[in-house]
Amino acid sequence: MLETNIGKELLSKDEKYVWHSMKPYNPNATIVVEKSGGARITDVDGTEYIDAMAGLFCVNVGYGRPELAQAAYEQLLKNAYTPLSQGHVPAIELAEKLNEMLGGDYVIFFSNSGSEANETAFKIARQYHQQRGEGSRYKIVSRYRAYHGNSMGSLAATGQAERKYKYEPLAPGFLHVTPPDSYRRNEDEYTDVLEIPSVKDVDNVMTWEFSETVAAMILEPIITGGGVLVPPQGYLKGVEEVCKKHGALLIVDEVICGFGRTGKPFGFMNYDVKPDIITMAKGLTSAYLPLSATAVKREIYEEFTKSGNYDFFRHVNTFGGSPASCALALKNLEIMENEKLFERSAEKGAEIIEKLQNALNDHPYVGDVRGKGLIIGVELVKDRTTKEPLDVALVNQVVASCKENGVIIGKNGTTVAGFNNVLQLSPPLSIPEEDIEIVLNTLVDAINKLK
Ligand code: PMP
Repeated sequence: MLETNIGKELLSKDEKYVWHSMKPYNPNATIVVEKSGGARITDVDGTEYIDAMAGLFCVNVGYGRPELAQAAYEQLLKNAYTPLSQGHVPAIELAEKLNEMLGGDYVIFFSNSGSEANETAFKIARQYHQQRGEGSRYKIVSRYRAYHGNSMGSLAATGQAERKYKYEPLAPGFLHVTPPDSYRRNEDEYTDVLEIPSVKDVDNVMTWEFSETVAAMILEPIITGGGVLVPPQGYLKGVEEVCKKHGALLIVDEVICGFGRTGKPFGFMNYDVKPDIITMAKGLTSAYLPLSATAVKREIYEEFTKSGNYDFFRHVNTFGGSPASCALALKNLEIMENEKLFERSAEKGAEIIEKLQNALNDHPYVGDVRGKGLIIGVELVKDRTTKEPLDVALVNQVVASCKENGVIIGKNGTTVAGFNNVLQLSPPLSIPEEDIEIVLNTLVDAINKLK
């Protein structure tokens, strides 16, 4: 490869002018990308990497899709902007399409990011109870280890202390329960879903906090950024029942799990529940343009629109649901359908998990290999019996070794008590077979170097 120095010059400008807030968390990840295609990204010096994280869990259809660029381009020429206090064609078509995919009667509120979609959900949940004359039900229950966004409400819902303590006080009224964790807190044997301890935690908190003060529970079907925590099969069903019992709404955060990540259109579809509110972002446009959405069951929406009711939802979003983003999202969903990417995610995910389990079965530091669809986690521990998390320096070593060998993988969990020990693969759902092989070999080699 030709040594150009372009990279070095740009890197120093990057360091000088661009604030990469999370760089210290993953110091080996710095790349200045120039172009991308399929599952690969190329930096300014021409070095190519397989992106086994699809950016940040979002480029579901892969990079460089001309159809997506074309859809945005045509829409920008036709009509670049109309606020959704009025209306425009792509937003209507996309809302109809999402409703069809959700398999229910939902009304869609558009915004620009996952955080905003969650903030919107919290406001809807709180106001909904007031519209019904149920007094001030304001508390939102969420789980430790979950991530729900960077804004004051969505961060308050987040259950990772290290992200929060320097910004307190955050929005008040957010409570946390212990998440399910099949590896450390095996709950798979319960036949009565209400007996699952992590479901009972939700019931207890809602009871002890006084049901009449609780507005909603928010959860991801699988806690992704907090360490790929796949719940026991009956967990979501149990939580849904508990929410109904306490009159709380169930908000499901599909920001990562949505659009095929777990092998289904939406993550909740693996668990036979019907959420009251569903939030989505990332994969909605495969991150080609910003767009997020909050889908709300019609009967909830109708509490805001009853005739003579002046208490409408006073929530405005300037860029939310912009025409080009919506037109691009429609094309993105069409690609996923045509290329059967949800099914592919389920199939390839299962194959990858099996291969990793076989390859790493006897490794002293590999505690668990788990996931669903193309959300895959490898939990590294010091000792397979005590399950004590492996030191983060060694976890970082694996990430760095993969990068050196041309593969970008993720690392997540929470730094609290050193649980920053889960390696992650979340590649584009369209990642070619040969790239999957390279990712697998590179990751296994990198982990084997730890022995
Ligand atoms: N919810 C979940 C589950 C997420 O993973 C994220 C972002 N990683 C968000 C919400 C926030 O999304 P955004 O960064 O677009 O605000």
